Amino acid sequence: MENEKKTDLKSLPLEELSEKLKEAGYPAFRAKQLYHWLHAARVRDLDEMTNIPAAMKKELSEKYEITRIHTIDRQISQLDGTQKFLFAMPDDCLVESVFMKYSYGNSICISSQVGCRMGCRFCASTLDGLIRNLTPAEMLEQIYEAMRQTGEKISHVVVMGTGEPFDNYDNLLVFLKMLTDENGMNLSRRNVTVSTCGIVPRMLDFAKENTGVTLALSLHATTDARRREIMPVADRYSIRELMDACENYFRVSGRRITFEYSLIAGVNDSEEQAAQLGALARKAHAHVNLIPVNPVKETGYRQPERNAVIAFKNKLEKHGINVSIRRVLGRDIDGACGQLRHRHLLSCRQNNQAETTSEQR
Ligand code: SF4
Repeated sequence: MENEKKTDLKSLPLEELSEKLKEAGYPAFRAKQLYHWLHAARVRDLDEMTNIPAAMKKELSEKYEITRIHTIDRQISQLDGTQKFLFAMPDDCLVESVFMKYSYGNSICISSQVGCRMGCRFCASTLDGLIRNLTPAEMLEQIYEAMRQTGEKISHVVVMGTGEPFDNYDNLLVFLKMLTDENGMNLSRRNVTVSTCGIVPRMLDFAKENTGVTLALSLHATTDARRREIMPVADRYSIRELMDACENYFRVSGRRITFEYSLIAGVNDSEEQAAQLGALARKAHAHVNLIPVNPVKETGYRQPERNAVIAFKNKLEKHGINVSIRRVLGRDIDGACGQLRHRHLLSCRQNNQAETTSEQR
């Protein structure tokens, strides 16, 4: 049928691709060749695949498509080389990614959804709600497109941009599998971090998947009451349940959890809260990453003074906790996560809203 949706070749893990090509009568080595072109050479078109026969390309193009995303906006920090990308998906939905340079290599923070329905009060990404999930190919393409644009390698990936990765769980698992496949991008599992706002059942499932990646928990508060004020997800899962899920992840995977803690002046930065956070981190074997909150006009939250941030860190260290303060990168380019996108017109919104609503209920 003319309007039948084509399957996206770029979202197929190698085994699935092999299966489909085998069914179509192609020898096994063709799947590996194709996968290599898509995820190791990272070409954008069948035409660029020089060792694939023309007849096979023709047949493939009738049944399959290859996701391509486009760079709409790119801001480059003159201070530290951080680059912020605004990408358009094939249906014009917009997502942000941030490319950062560290002493250990280049890292990218990618988005897992278009918008987010989690409603964290300090976050600009949720202001327009959830539009839709990203496919595995759309998550991979953020990395590939940033590499094309910058001409640089990327050795570390953080799924901490717009969206709650565990709200797009199945696609996340496929993405992680493909990202770390030695036949493709071949990224070390140890260099991948997935950040969740704390969907406990998914944290338990994820531990069983044995992906070997680092799990980060957006904790941001030390009591249920305070957490509920800033993160609606806390209405569903208590801190106690979260800590059990963190301990479980550590026990099953052997990987240390990271607590992400956005410091908000007057909300979660007191001495008492530092002591409580220290106790939680010790119990969960967690490293703590302090993030002076990005001011978001709509929420009125502001960062504590620099010396208050240092005092909070020192207090945690007295509890024997390993603490880092997130380096402020790209200070001279657009600020908080989600704001670049928020400023642009969401042209995909109407196309996808009906679909999202039916998915949610
Ligand atoms: S912090 Fe993450 S989970 Fe919370 S609203 Fe923002 S994108 Fe969603």
